[in-house]
Amino acid sequence: MDYKKVAVVTGANKLQGIGLAVVRGLAQQGLQVVLTSRDPAKGDAAVALLKSEGLDVLTQPLDVSDLASVNQLKSFLESKFDRLDVLVNNAALWLDNLDGTTGSIFETQVSTLEATLAANLMGPLLVSQKLIPLMKRHNYGRVVNVSSGAGQLSDMASGYPSYRMSKTALNALTRIFAHELKDTNILVNAVCPGWVRTAMGGPNAPRSPEEGADTIVWLATLADGAPTGGFFRNRQPLAW
Ligand code: NDP
Repeated sequence: MDYKKVAVVTGANKLQGIGLAVVRGLAQQGLQVVLTSRDPAKGDAAVALLKSEGLDVLTQPLDVSDLASVNQLKSFLESKFDRLDVLVNNAALWLDNLDGTTGSIFETQVSTLEATLAANLMGPLLVSQKLIPLMKRHNYGRVVNVSSGAGQLSDMASGYPSYRMSKTALNALTRIFAHELKDTNILVNAVCPGWVRTAMGGPNAPRSPEEGADTIVWLATLADGAPTGGFFRNRQPLAW
């Protein structure tokens, strides 16, 4: 029987965000996308925009750092679809510039690191732990962890240390899930979207959200037998 693939994108509420551009790209390819947002009203507004473009998208609340919220989304997916095909762990925070420190690691506040890891690392961990089992049931899944060149060990530098460490750790999480799932048709990859004009990237970034979303959508729709446990930018492998 034919069915629509079901996709979840985290942190997809911002109208100029990469997450919403990913939702749009997946919906345009015919997937049933569940746009998630920690603020339900913002999720509704984002879905209204996509509906005005003729796209059929659902929204559900999700705070990736909150186990009860993740479990609530899992229950929704089970009762509505009994499956999940695509998970894009996109939600993230960049707090280093907000805590009044210079960005030197000598000044890094443990509270900033904890809050950053809660969203950027523990969030994808919890969401993956709870939702990948819905992929295992039918042995198909594409998991895309939206990381950053800021987390590359091969290109590590100083500046915004909490964000950098969170993305390096997310890359490790990607490799660990990919290894555990290596004998399945569930592919787990990390991606750097490039520098993108969003609330996080700022107005001077060269890429539009759609350009930032391109490699994410590509990884979310990889064919069977495609790479797993990789890191990509511009649809090309990137050094860890
Ligand atoms: P934005 O800041 O525009 O959007 C981030 C989204 O994450 C928002 O929707 C935000 O929700 C959500 N979010 C944060 N914490 C949580 C949480 N606990 N639960 C659920 N949602 C949460 O970021 P971008 O669109 O620029 O970034 C998307 C991804 O791309 C991120 O992973 C980022 O690290 C990565 N990236 C971005 C780059 C860039 O240049 N923009 C460069 C490299 C990587 P809310 O609106 O409620 O705050």
